Amino acid sequence: MTETEILFDLLKKGVSPVQVVDGCRERLAAAGFAELSYSKPWKLEKNGKYYVNHHDTTLFAFTVGEDFAGTKAPQIRIAAAHTDFPCLRIKPSAEVAANGYAQLNVEVYGGAILNTWLDRPLGIAGRVAVRGSEPFTPEIRTFTSDKNLLTIPNLAIHMNREVNKGVELNKQVDMLPVMGLLSEEEKDTQYFLDFIAGELSVKKEDILDFELTVYCREEPQYIGLHEDFISSPRLDNLTSCAALVSAIIDGTRTGGVNLIALFDHEEIGSRSKQGAGSILLHDMLLRILKELGRGEHAGQELYDSMILSVDVAHGVHPNQAGKMDITNKPVLGKGFCIKEASSQSYATDCEAIAIIQQICEMKKIPYQKFVNRSDMQGGGTLGSIASALLPVRTVDIGIPLLAMHSARELMGTSDQQALKDLAEAYFSL
Ligand SMILES: [Zn+2]
Repeated sequence: MTETEILFDLLKKGVSPVQVVDGCRERLAAAGFAELSYSKPWKLEKNGKYYVNHHDTTLFAFTVGEDFAGTKAPQIRIAAAHTDFPCLRIKPSAEVAANGYAQLNVEVYGGAILNTWLDRPLGIAGRVAVRGSEPFTPEIRTFTSDKNLLTIPNLAIHMNREVNKGVELNKQVDMLPVMGLLSEEEKDTQYFLDFIAGELSVKKEDILDFELTVYCREEPQYIGLHEDFISSPRLDNLTSCAALVSAIIDGTRTGGVNLIALFDHEEIGSRSKQGAGSILLHDMLLRILKELGRGEHAGQELYDSMILSVDVAHGVHPNQAGKMDITNKPVLGKGFCIKEASSQSYATDCEAIAIIQQICEMKKIPYQKFVNRSDMQGGGTLGSIASALLPVRTVDIGIPLLAMHSARELMGTSDQQALKDLAEAYFSL
């Protein structure tokens, strides 16, 4: 499969962080990676390949070389990305029945461009907690609706003639999806819970809680004269997840440790037990070093690491070029971006950046630089947060997009290969 085929596959499967982790695990398992559990003993072997699932929405995968000591620095090479994306999350007691419509109560997760969620076919995905045989062991079931289940209709222009001057959408009022039509007898029923219970073949009373989100059901598509662009939901940040899984599978380094960390909760600030703002990465490295018999040197060897933080960047917009910095104007299809910000919203470390540029020069991989306009704050990502907890050389990179955080985003088709090539070289040289 080509890297864009691999990306399309993950974009279709990865409709919530649970399914992103599942899709990545399937690829790793097929490539010979063995699953490890936090709560069981590990026995790491030379040239071993492993993955660890954390709470179903965060995933680590790592490879152990022939030899640890004396390998080319940095001995520990880390690349991180995130599994979550802006969406709508379904609230408990979700049924909202009014005017004959079956609607759902939702809240907005992350920084979604709300109006892009209107008039699209939507589905539901995530995980459901079902009553177990005793309180500490509820059964966790993953779920993806396989049909167009929901939509959020726009208001007709005839009912708001000012619509093209911009409309502020209220998150509690205007974003409730419609799930169907209700007869008089159905209007007081738990039609949402009934639907989930039916799909999972469980009793409604046994559904205790759920983490279910609304996802855009449109599929990725090529656009342009020469298939120049890919238009798809969830490019932020499944482009990075797909490339990092490919890179750790194809990386050829024979010493040290290569590790990818795919974290949940980046879109809401990373500070959670599954997020990059937890002790998870540091803890994972300590455990690997201990299992390799390097425990007593861990304090020193942890610092022989580097972090590649991989998340999307902004490309120059064809209709709004003035929103971009005046001398750094990344274009779609001209390579991934190295992101810099003096505020450290992107981990900005000239030594780490120089390493990436030298790898690109050696391997003839195209790259560009991204910085915000000085009068704009811009976004942030997990690089600075993760490196505050593991203070080693860190660089933020990612594919430039247009329409970031829209229900459908746009990228340059060739950039996926460039990102994968860089990550593979990072895990090989
Ligand atoms: Zn992102």
